[in-house]
Amino acid sequence: PLTSNDLIEEHRICVCVRARPLNKKEISVKDLDVITIPSKDVVMVHEPKQKVDLTRYLENQTFRFDYAFDENSTNEMVYRFTAQPLVETIFERGMATCFAYGQTGSGKTHTMGGDFSGKNQDCSKGIYALSARDVFLMLKKPVYKKLDLQVFATFFEIYSGKVFDLLNHKAKLRVLEDGKQQVQVVGLQEREVKCTEDVLKLIEMGNSCRTSGQTSANAHSSRSHAVFQIILRRRGKMHGKFSLIDLAGNERGADTSSADRQTRLEGAEINKSLLALKECIRALGRNKPHTPFRASKLTQVLRDSFIGENSRTCMIATVSPGMASCENTLNTLRYANRLV
Ligand code: ADP
Ligand code: MG
Repeated sequence: PLTSNDLIEEHRICVCVRARPLNKKEISVKDLDVITIPSKDVVMVHEPKQKVDLTRYLENQTFRFDYAFDENSTNEMVYRFTAQPLVETIFERGMATCFAYGQTGSGKTHTMGGDFSGKNQDCSKGIYALSARDVFLMLKKPVYKKLDLQVFATFFEIYSGKVFDLLNHKAKLRVLEDGKQQVQVVGLQEREVKCTEDVLKLIEMGNSCRTSGQTSANAHSSRSHAVFQIILRRRGKMHGKFSLIDLAGNERGADTSSADRQTRLEGAEINKSLLALKECIRALGRNKPHTPFRASKLTQVLRDSFIGENSRTCMIATVSPGMASCENTLNTLRYANRLV
């Protein structure tokens, strides 16, 4: 297992993969695990180990990342190697982002928001909540305590290129760019939070707002990006910002050939934003002066996080282990691989 010696601290961009276990449904239809994580940074996609008569033969493919987390990993462990090192960044006047990218059902929301599958919804174990917990711990350190920082949270979603405030009854918001290239989401609610409990309440509130009126939580969330932000302010001025993003399902990009016009448009928009995101992260990694953030609403609202001396990002690519998801899994791994 990963130890504290394995923690890479100096990276601007950290890319990792998390595989979830086969779920009951996959087991019931006898889907087979095609993912192996043989060491702390390697992911292999291969034919199932079990002797089965396969019509579709899969070549072994191996990918290397900063970290690879297998099906036994916990949110707490994934957090420790991904978002946790970024908490300090925002105290040092930096901008941090952490993305969950992957196919619908691969574990993005489980990783970021916590468990919303059962009756007892628990968002206290997700990366949103764990990050908030550590922000409040850091605030107590004498060196930061004397800065007199205030903590605020925002929660919004981007659906079909439009921004909706999840802390304000899904109010539709405009995004404006001023002459100084500052991007503003006009009217976005920024709630002051004093403790982790306050943050949990906002996450719950935003999540129920996100899915209200939807027949299925996943049907909606697979088409929208959810952005949760923790903002530090000092005398009203922004000191640092941590954006945690549960991205739309990457398989939705394939909807561009759908018979339904609306679905097709949404698919095209998702495709565009995920491609733009890749380019912005790559530009950040290469210290390029030009970040193509205007290419999508998602990258536009995150503009200030891709630019600047002290910006760091982390990508958690989530994958489903089943043979049936193989094509999407390979797409996810290839996308993540291109970031570094
Ligand atoms: P996504 O947000 O990518 O569509 P979810 O996070 O909703 O996927 O996960 C789909 C299902 O799989 C949920 O029921 C979730 O609880 C379960 N799940 C996801 N990741 C894990 C994991 N690492 N361990 C156990 N269950 C998981
Ligand atoms: Mg989800």
